[in-house]
Amino acid sequence: MFGKGITLFKLLGFEVRVDASWIILAVFITWSLAFGYFPHTRPGLSNYVYWTMGIVGTLGLFISIIFHELSHALVARDYQLPIKGITLFIFGGVAEMEKESPNPKIEFLMTLVGPLSSAVLGFFFYFVRFFAVEYQWPLPIQVVLSYLFVINLLLAAFNLLPAFPLDGGRLLRSALWAYKKNLRWATRISSSVGSGFSWILIFFGLAWILLGNFLGGLWWLLIGIFLKGASHLSYQQLLMQQLLKGEPVQRLMSTEVITVSPTTTIENLVQDYIYQYHHKLFPVVEDSKTLGYILLFKTGFGRI
Ligand SMILES: [Zn+2]
Repeated sequence: MFGKGITLFKLLGFEVRVDASWIILAVFITWSLAFGYFPHTRPGLSNYVYWTMGIVGTLGLFISIIFHELSHALVARDYQLPIKGITLFIFGGVAEMEKESPNPKIEFLMTLVGPLSSAVLGFFFYFVRFFAVEYQWPLPIQVVLSYLFVINLLLAAFNLLPAFPLDGGRLLRSALWAYKKNLRWATRISSSVGSGFSWILIFFGLAWILLGNFLGGLWWLLIGIFLKGASHLSYQQLLMQQLLKGEPVQRLMSTEVITVSPTTTIENLVQDYIYQYHHKLFPVVEDSKTLGYILLFKTGFGRI
């Protein structure tokens, strides 16, 4: 879904990767912090200082997202669930799991720890800022710390939206899963709720753009479109996994077997078998022994 990404480093045994989209986002965030957010909240500093604050703020956001995903990954590993790595992409990060949680309780704990650790990290920055004010650290440091406090609480809140596959949607799914003991049903309901949420985001995004707030509206619109695709895709992936997991070939095989005898002429084969049954394969059988088979390609007969 997110391409391969560029591997940055290994952290506690997990590969941390960034998707190319994150680089575009990092530039955009740095720019909007340096030109918009910081000059707006604390006017009167030099451009050079705003740029530095923008870069440090983006770096802080980057670390905050890794911290969030790392918490998911650590709990998953605690429950022996293999994690391929952590990838940061345009709307945050994802701890890539190789399979679904075995039960709703693990899913619930593994998910809840993400928003929880973002909130804890947010309050950590809040306390550091408290000291920064107390001991009169330089003003730009105080402002960046406030930003990191706010952004971590926003990360926690945004992820708690009940829009699958966001954490909130996963929590909802694990509750539904525990209630009905049916993962497929739980995923279907929570992806529908997720897709409902994404329509609301798309609607508000468009309304904002029409009301003149182009950038703000564009964000909501893009997040809505992204969520819409992600909720649909996650459900499809689950269906595929479930469809193929542990299913015997018996379920997919055709049960009507038409055999031919080795002495059947090709003309008979075409007239009496191929035109009549439209099978792709005819076993050649004599005295209950399979001697071979006739295989039909779109372009004619063949053997493999
Ligand atoms: Zn999360």
